[in-house]
Amino acid sequence: MIERTLVLLKPDAVQRSLCGRILSRFEDAGIKIVGMKMVWIDDKFAKTHYTGIAERHGERVLKNLVDYIKEAPVVALVLEGVNVIDVVRKIVGSTYPNESLPGTIRGDFCHISKKYANDNNKKVGNLIHASEDKKSAEREISLWFSKSELFNYKIVHDIHVI
Ligand code: UDP
Ligand code: MG
Repeated sequence: MIERTLVLLKPDAVQRSLCGRILSRFEDAGIKIVGMKMVWIDDKFAKTHYTGIAERHGERVLKNLVDYIKEAPVVALVLEGVNVIDVVRKIVGSTYPNESLPGTIRGDFCHISKKYANDNNKKVGNLIHASEDKKSAEREISLWFSKSELFNYKIVHDIHVI
């Protein structure tokens, strides 16, 4: 099934000038960019985006994460493809970069562990956000993008990949 997912190139990706290399990974896989913009979000928006994090990881992680996502602008993307929510999570790699496999974005471009981050009261800097499931993808896409910022068009992969 063709789906859409929300991806953020987090401030460390932008500040490390990795946006192009990260985007290439999705383009190479034949995934379509249907929305893209740079945004510097505020505290309120960050907390809305990261709803549920305090319940899952605790207040201290939420605070570090909100500070992290506001450090610099992010590049917000809506990506489209067949079962793209799970495919994008696979290309991104697992949450903690030391556990992310080589070949994934997190595995190739960072390596910090959850233990090191939390022992030192640091964020887990892992370059990228990707929606976890269909429900969160729908919520996050409508939070970040208006309908007029999303586009329907054909790319070569519509013929040769899909
Ligand atoms: N995070 C963190 N410390 C932790 C757990 C998570 O800084 O102990 C950050 C990390 O940047 C992660 C984000 O919180 O990407 C959201 O956590 P989630 O469990 O949703 O991971 P994701 O879906 O991004 O893989
Ligand atoms: Mg998540």
